[in-house]
Amino acid sequence: MKKIILVICDGLGDRPSANLNGKTPLQAARKPNIDRLASASMLGLIYTISPGVTPGSDTSHLSLLGYDPKRYYTGRGPLEAIGAGLKLREGDIAFRCNFATVDHDGIVIDRRAGRIKEPDTGKLASIISEMRIDGHTVFFKESTEHRCVLVVRGEGLGANVTDTDPGVEGKGILKASGRDAASQRTAEIVNTFTDMAMKKLAEADLNRERERKGLKPANAILARGAGEYPKIEPFFEKRGMRMGGIVAEGLIVGICRVLGAEVSVPAGFTAGMDMDVSGVAKEAERMLSSVDFLLIHIKPTDVAGHDGNAKGKMEVLERIDDMIGRIAEIEGTVLALTGDHSTPVSAREHTCDPVPLLIHSRGLRSDGISSFDEISCSRGSLSGLRGLDITPLLMGYADRNEKYGA
Ligand code: ZN
Ligand code: ZN
Repeated sequence: MKKIILVICDGLGDRPSANLNGKTPLQAARKPNIDRLASASMLGLIYTISPGVTPGSDTSHLSLLGYDPKRYYTGRGPLEAIGAGLKLREGDIAFRCNFATVDHDGIVIDRRAGRIKEPDTGKLASIISEMRIDGHTVFFKESTEHRCVLVVRGEGLGANVTDTDPGVEGKGILKASGRDAASQRTAEIVNTFTDMAMKKLAEADLNRERERKGLKPANAILARGAGEYPKIEPFFEKRGMRMGGIVAEGLIVGICRVLGAEVSVPAGFTAGMDMDVSGVAKEAERMLSSVDFLLIHIKPTDVAGHDGNAKGKMEVLERIDDMIGRIAEIEGTVLALTGDHSTPVSAREHTCDPVPLLIHSRGLRSDGISSFDEISCSRGSLSGLRGLDITPLLMGYADRNEKYGA
């Protein structure tokens, strides 16, 4: 039996870019290790959900990890909340939130409160971290940058709740409403929390201090993306493999935790353009002594895509080249390299374009293609697979499947 390493570069796939002489960032990047690996691998272009579906990072990661998002996905809120470090239970309803700035008339003038971040977010969150409302408990915690999370716990709650976030500046905070009786109960608790939080945040010394410094006060909370904590089998129970993750981004950390995976963040390994991967290969080797399936998540490829930064995306790929080369040398493994979706720099958003996939292990076939990019991979033997196929396929190549029939 072999161990499995799945490297997912977020938003990896792209389209021809004018800034790169008509090449995609993968085509333009200098990546000798990855291309050498490609020539000894099976390749393909895959749909991480299905053709014509533009994937979110959460649904596509679930799919690549072998969990059908149609069955298991209950919204981004619970995954963000778990990623932020809250412990959730079945029946909990979670929201993704922003710290925001409202004026005296309650109009949202900045949905990100001047891009407030730690340590200010942590200090303000501690003022409203736990409240009792109507016999229910509300938990609140800071997440990355201006983001935060809200969890409502108690009997008889529903998740079919509208957002309080107006989505644009220049409008007031919306009143949440529920589409059924249980969800209406959740909505009323969220509305009460929103009012109570505004009162407490208005009195916070830190907000006065921010105003004195010319910074925007974080005096309101905007909630969106309600979801119920998903009923989901841990990875070990479903696949018989202990799972680990080298992951920095909150949402994907949340997915790892929901699946019961051990998560590690090596020094300097961030979810931003400053990501340092120099410690990743060593950490991967260490974790593989205790886990059977390791997810490594590279976020800044998606960040550069959303920023329309073709050179930046190319440079991130060049930065991980050496790391991939080292990981490929770890003995007794099946290595896969792919993306969760395409985030073309020309589109600045996720698109439905399929993503390149590479599978390598000593002794397996190779497709005789010597470059890893969107165009070359289209000729590979793995083309047309879907996200849900990938984990079972990797298990097959790792000799972790069972024979079907006699
Ligand atoms: Zn993504
Ligand atoms: Zn994205």
